[in-house]
Amino acid sequence: MAYLALYRKYRPKVFADVVGQKQVSETLVRAIESDKVAHAYLFAGPRGTGKTSMAKIFARSINCVEGPTATPCGQCTACKQILAGQSMDVLEIDAASNRGIDEIRTLRENVKFMPVEGRKKIFIIDEAHMLTTEAWNALLKTIEEPPAHVMFIFATTEAEKLPVTILSRCQRYTFRRITADDIVGRLQYVANQEGFELDPKAARLIAIHADGGMRDALSILDQCAGMAGGLIDTELVENLIGLVSKEWVMDLLDRIHKGDGAGILSAISQALVEGRDPLQILDALIRHVRALLIGKVAPEEEELALYDTVKEAFLAQSQAFSVADINRYVHQFQSIQGDAKGVDNPRTIVEMGLLVMCAESGSVGRDLESRVASLEARESRQEEAILNRLTKLEAGGGRESVRPSLDPSYGDQTSYPMPNEEFPEPSMPEPSQQEERGSSPLSKSPLPKVSPLPKVKPLPKPGASQDPSPQSPPPIPADAPVTIGQGLVDAAQYRTIQGNVINYLKSHQRSLLATVLNQSQLIYVDAYKVVFVVKSALNYSMLTNAAHAKDIGEACYAFLGHAVAVEAVKANSPQAAEYKAAVQKGAAPSQEASGNAVKADPEAREAVGHKWDPANMSPQEAGNPMIKETLSKLSEEYDIYVEDK
Ligand SMILES: [Zn+2]
Repeated sequence: MAYLALYRKYRPKVFADVVGQKQVSETLVRAIESDKVAHAYLFAGPRGTGKTSMAKIFARSINCVEGPTATPCGQCTACKQILAGQSMDVLEIDAASNRGIDEIRTLRENVKFMPVEGRKKIFIIDEAHMLTTEAWNALLKTIEEPPAHVMFIFATTEAEKLPVTILSRCQRYTFRRITADDIVGRLQYVANQEGFELDPKAARLIAIHADGGMRDALSILDQCAGMAGGLIDTELVENLIGLVSKEWVMDLLDRIHKGDGAGILSAISQALVEGRDPLQILDALIRHVRALLIGKVAPEEEELALYDTVKEAFLAQSQAFSVADINRYVHQFQSIQGDAKGVDNPRTIVEMGLLVMCAESGSVGRDLESRVASLEARESRQEEAILNRLTKLEAGGGRESVRPSLDPSYGDQTSYPMPNEEFPEPSMPEPSQQEERGSSPLSKSPLPKVSPLPKVKPLPKPGASQDPSPQSPPPIPADAPVTIGQGLVDAAQYRTIQGNVINYLKSHQRSLLATVLNQSQLIYVDAYKVVFVVKSALNYSMLTNAAHAKDIGEACYAFLGHAVAVEAVKANSPQAAEYKAAVQKGAAPSQEASGNAVKADPEAREAVGHKWDPANMSPQEAGNPMIKETLSKLSEEYDIYVEDK
């Protein structure tokens, strides 16, 4: 007997068998039971979700000798012929095969005749969106005035392509993408029936890869069964669908992150020997960094089940990478992927691309920055999607697990001092609580410390339950003057203010926002507003979000003592230049601070210490090339203040 593909063999035979489409089958059953079957149906939904199976079950329900019934017998001639695709009364037309013109012509001829043995002549038109306009026109008349013995079922993945005149005459049913759980259940059922040994993790891997399509899932299972000697496990599935293993991807990403060029080349070569192709590798990397992001914000998410066998290592990696890292990696991988598509030897492009990334990791990489910036501009829509998701999660509150714990680079002594992109990290004054704990990663920073403003209010302890908004600033009057320079705060204090604001946000569970500020630079503070300059589109949209601006405003209020509006300007924009110029002008010793602006406190200035200069480097700084180089580089663009001992 010829081998029957699993998806055919296990095609659902009664309504209850159709997985994941309860809403459709229940309504159809009700229509049959109450004898209210319509003349034309539209089954719309993604491929492999059971549309044609449902149509055939429906046809048997109508034409079964015991029908119309919700449970066709499967034994009578009508049922058997429909199952075998040989019924004279149920005609299947595949519109994809030849655009349907001849079939529709035959159909119009056929419509005139009464059904041979069933109650109705049923036309199942698959891939209906492929029918030509002529074919639709030919059909329209029949559908407008259908004979009582005729019924149409259109199945399509693209319902929006059907003519409105047809749509308006059909009862529409939408088939949902089948959930991974439903598919796993069905795969296990089929495996049991067939006597396959199927590892539950392998079943899940198949389900996720099939992306909601039962037919694809069963086809993969079919092929796995053909290859497996005994147990069908994740390794076999990964091999079959050309996936690289999770361990391998995690290891490769680590190598890229560490800058291990030789290791990257050998890992790629190993994968190619095993039959992967270079684009698959990039695809795997992109999926993986995306999973890392999900791991950061929602570690219990269903799709992370694929990492169950390596969960600890996966979560560790997801914590070790900042959102900025992940964001950058996604863009870089996508850029390499774009370059590698459509060339004769994608391997070279992929290897080169990854090596360039690895050479750049850990260094300032001006080129890289501009590349990232241009990519970010191009892909800002995608970023916004990530942003919205993160924002939602963060705003959702409550569950600690969904809060991204950002920027582990604080604790990383070896890779200090530059955050991987954007602006130099402002040194942060340490609030007293952190000193008590003695474990603040900041205290390990090799950069000279900057003293906090003396009049800083003590930070509330994180998590301590207290009056929720003691720091709420008074509302900013709508007619607040925005003239530049009113009550200008001394630029020497900006870094301290920024550091305090970041710490405040962190201690108030706004770590995402803190990270964004950490990548931005405070360039202007006056009596009415604070201005941050940002480089990336993502950060710009973060800071211009009203809710975020309010949070930052509160944090500023806690330190400045007056309400300010929060403004973000893009790097190298005319506005940024204008603010910087204003600060430079106003930075003269004769402060024009007025009104309720913070007055520069002589004690504060003393506490800040002296300005660092390459000429007066300490022996310790001079002895460490990394610190030396970084400080010199920073001092070209920024004033660095060193605390006087
Ligand atoms: Zn029957």
